[in-house]
Amino acid sequence: MRHSFSLGALLLISLPATGAELPEGYWTVEKTQPILDAALRVTLDPDLSHLTEGELRALDELLAAGRIMHALFEEQRHAGAADARLALETAHARSTNTATQNLVDLYYLSKGPITTTLDNERLPFLPVDAEDPGKNVYPVGLTRAEIDAYLAAHPHEAKSILDERSVVRRATANNIAAELEQLAEFPEIDALHSGLRQRLEMLRPNPNTLYAVPYALAYAPQLRDARTHLNLAADAIADESPDFEAYLRNRGRDWLTGDYEAGDASWVSGSFNGLNVQIGSYETYDDALYGVKAFYSASILARDEQKSRALATAISGLQAIEDSLPYDHQKRVRSQIPVGVYNVIADFGQARGANTATILPNDADHARKYGRTILVRNNILTNPAIFANRKRRYDAVVDAAFRDHLTLNGGFNRTLWHEIGHYLGVSVTADGRSLDAALADFSDLFEEMKSDLVSLFAAPALRDAGYYDADAMRAHYADGIRRTLQVVQPRPEQPYQNMQLMQFNFFIEHGLIELRGQPALLTINYDRYHEVVGKLLREVLQLLYAGDYDMVKLFVSRWNYWDEKLHGRLAERMRESAGYRSTLVRYRRLNDE
Ligand SMILES: [Zn+2]
Repeated sequence: MRHSFSLGALLLISLPATGAELPEGYWTVEKTQPILDAALRVTLDPDLSHLTEGELRALDELLAAGRIMHALFEEQRHAGAADARLALETAHARSTNTATQNLVDLYYLSKGPITTTLDNERLPFLPVDAEDPGKNVYPVGLTRAEIDAYLAAHPHEAKSILDERSVVRRATANNIAAELEQLAEFPEIDALHSGLRQRLEMLRPNPNTLYAVPYALAYAPQLRDARTHLNLAADAIADESPDFEAYLRNRGRDWLTGDYEAGDASWVSGSFNGLNVQIGSYETYDDALYGVKAFYSASILARDEQKSRALATAISGLQAIEDSLPYDHQKRVRSQIPVGVYNVIADFGQARGANTATILPNDADHARKYGRTILVRNNILTNPAIFANRKRRYDAVVDAAFRDHLTLNGGFNRTLWHEIGHYLGVSVTADGRSLDAALADFSDLFEEMKSDLVSLFAAPALRDAGYYDADAMRAHYADGIRRTLQVVQPRPEQPYQNMQLMQFNFFIEHGLIELRGQPALLTINYDRYHEVVGKLLREVLQLLYAGDYDMVKLFVSRWNYWDEKLHGRLAERMRESAGYRSTLVRYRRLNDE
């Protein structure tokens, strides 16, 4: 990514001209090389010959908007990201050598100056502060207990402080002055956010007072630039794809209002041609403090028309699957949900990496009113190197008789039905609260576990409907077990890994999987599969419906355990299988990175 050089940032750190002596806080080759060696490098270069001239012009604008999303994401995750990156790139430009090249690559892989070590620790590799659970969207050092105490004393502020698109700050004189100055520079934000100015003006400087400002104000300059690119993209395809045009213009306006309803509605229900884009702030995985703040991302996608059509006909009868779920509060679901198969052109921010599929929006009201769109990422899901790496790990711990059961298609289908699983089951608590609000830091973990289990639970129904033959169902099941295998002990704030570990523990305690032989390898008792998955799914759906934080916490502490003699040994064997630990994805279309 290119930077405009800011003199202020350049003066912050002055680096020596030779790379031989790295400044304090810069990791050496000895520390960076093992992490980079463990990263599988993949370059995505999908065929774009089906795009029209207008779409290609729109694509350039979308890529420009995506770069802004990426920079915003890095800023949201770490206050020191931009300066650290600039200093590193300056050093690298002055004297290119392995040490600085590795640091540049590690920054790219880590999307910021904090990396995940092979021991699954989060550490800075450049001279920046350690990572805060609240990242850069809460004040440094703020704890959950302090937020809870503050909200108990000021309940009317819960809405703004826990809003998914607001930054929480302490009411220092400097902060208040900076907010008001930014608001004066963006009168359109002032006009669209009634009451914001008064709230800010009424704040008295006191570092114990917390307040929140909408992303629309906090990131106003960057969002204005990104909006310009969306409008130019809209201009380029206006004649040929009016629905896509409307979506892009609405999304640009969403960034001003802070309300994504218009963009979400026109995104989910619009009919687009060759291009699609997920853009804005959606997923809350990076908020390890409260699990509510959305982080910026963009995915720019080329539609695979043939595969999309085949898929749309294959998934009918969703209501029957919803009705079969083991709970008593079934809802009406749409029989036709917008699902498309896409090839990734480029990903930015939170979306960058080897994500296999996405379903959005998450907002329960928007999902109820407009539905959700499912974006299946074909050139990730069918990438042979990524599959080979997964299979190597699976083979290392699974009995030989089960190894052939894992297939590329099994992974494709399990993932697809995981995404559909987000659509089914409980979406609000019995008393009408959103799951994010009720389950707080456990909400992502439960939402993802529900979706994994719905996917597995649906498999026999899909076989009965003729969608699967016996082998395809077995491949879906085998991938469900592969999914639960952990190469390292998860950190508490990793929702996916922890819910996978919980499934593994539930499965092994209920005899769905078993360790046999010497060395002990996993066997799968397929005849137990549906019953055990149904039992766990029933518990998960009940907990979601009750929305009781303490019960959820108890359930997690019951199933989320790590035993070195069991999990540790399996993890070690997978690590020894020489599989890659992470995926470093690059994009041909972004050839300057
Ligand atoms: Zn998911």
